[in-house]
Amino acid sequence: MNGVALRRKILGVHRRIRQARLFAKAMQSSRHPVLAHVIPTRRCNLCCAYCNEYDRHSPPVPAAEMLRRIDRLAELGTAIITFSGGEPLLHPDLDELIRRVRQHGIFATVITNGYLLSPRRIERLNRAGLDQLQVSIDNVLPDEVSKKSLKVIEKRLQWLARYAEFDVSINSVIGAPVRNPADALVVARRAVQLGFAVTAGILHDDCGQLVPLSEQQHAVFNEMVNLQKPFFGYGRQDPFQQKLARGLPNNWHCRAGCRYLYVCENGLVHYCSQERGFPGIPLMEYSTEHLNRAYETVKPCAPYCTISCVQRVAMLDQLREAPLEAILNLLQPPLGQQSPREPPVLLRMLTWMFLTGAGRQLFRKAALRVLGVK
Ligand code: SF4
Ligand code: SF4
Repeated sequence: MNGVALRRKILGVHRRIRQARLFAKAMQSSRHPVLAHVIPTRRCNLCCAYCNEYDRHSPPVPAAEMLRRIDRLAELGTAIITFSGGEPLLHPDLDELIRRVRQHGIFATVITNGYLLSPRRIERLNRAGLDQLQVSIDNVLPDEVSKKSLKVIEKRLQWLARYAEFDVSINSVIGAPVRNPADALVVARRAVQLGFAVTAGILHDDCGQLVPLSEQQHAVFNEMVNLQKPFFGYGRQDPFQQKLARGLPNNWHCRAGCRYLYVCENGLVHYCSQERGFPGIPLMEYSTEHLNRAYETVKPCAPYCTISCVQRVAMLDQLREAPLEAILNLLQPPLGQQSPREPPVLLRMLTWMFLTGAGRQLFRKAALRVLGVK
C-alpha cells in the first residue's frame, strides 16, 4: 500500500467516526441544520440542457463574505456544508473556504463536474481537508444535452483514484434526455472499478418535481441499484428514490429551511435549489425561530420531490419521531423483488432498540458516551 492509500484509509476511519458523531447529534436535536448547500459562484464552465442552477457570467462571491456565511452556519449548528454551484472549483478561494469549514469541525463536501481537476488541484483539496467530492457524469461521450462525459473526465478520475485522500462518489442523473440512457451503467461500472461510490439521482423539473422515467430509464435505474453501496447497511437505494422510480409519491415531511438549507450566491436562505424565494431570508438574519417555523411548515411539493439529499436528512427526523415507520420504509423490498430480504443482525438490533423505550434509552446513552457528544 502506498503512502496516499494508507493516509486515505486512516483518514477514512476518522471520517466514519465523525459521521457517527454527526448522526448521533442529529438524532439528539431536531433544531439545527444537518446539511447546508452553499453557492460560492453561480457561474459554470458547462451548460447542461436540463440545468437551471448556473449562469455564464456571475463573479465569485468574495471570500470574506463566504467566510462570514460559513461562520454563521457554524453558529446555527450546521453539521455538513456542501459547496455547489455553478461550478464551485471556479471559486479562486475554495481551499480557504473548505479550511474554514473544517476548523469549525463541520464535514466539508464539494459537488463538481470535474473539468478543472488536476493532480495539483487534488493535492490542494487534500491539504484543505476536504471530506468528500461528488463528480457528476451523465454520459460516455458528450452530446447536445450534457458534456459531463466519462471520456472527457476519465483522466481526472484516474488522478482522483491515485491522489485523493478524501471520499469520492460519482453521480449520474437518470432521466436526463442524453442520447443513450444506458451510459449511466457504463459510468457506474467504471466508478466502481476505480473504487468510488456510485449514486443515481432522478431528474426533476423546474419545481423539483419528478419527471417520469421511460421504460429504458427505469431499467437502467434498477441495474444501478445493484452497483451502489448498501444504504444504512440494508437496501441499496434509498426508499424515496425507489418509489419515485416506480412513479409513486412519497409520504414524508420535508424539513427544508431547518434541517437542510440552500444558501444562494446572494446569501439568502431558500428551501432548496428548486424552491428559491421561499423563505428567501438573509442567512445573517436567520434565527432559531426561522428554523423552528420551517421545520413545521408543510411543503406541498413533497410527494413527487426528487431532491434526495433533503429526503435523506428527513429520514433522520423520521427515525427519531416515528421509528417504526422509518424502519418499515427501510425494509421495503429492493427493486424488482416481491418480499423484503432477511434484515441483517445489526438492523434487527437497531429495530428492537428503537421500538422499545428501554432500548432507546440504552442506545442513546451508549452512543453519546462512546462518541463523547455533550
Ligand atoms: S455542470 Fe452542473 S452546474 Fe454546470 S450546467 Fe451542468 S449541471 Fe449545471
Ligand atoms: S419538498 Fe422540500 S426539497 Fe423538495 S422541492 Fe419542495 S421544498 Fe424543495
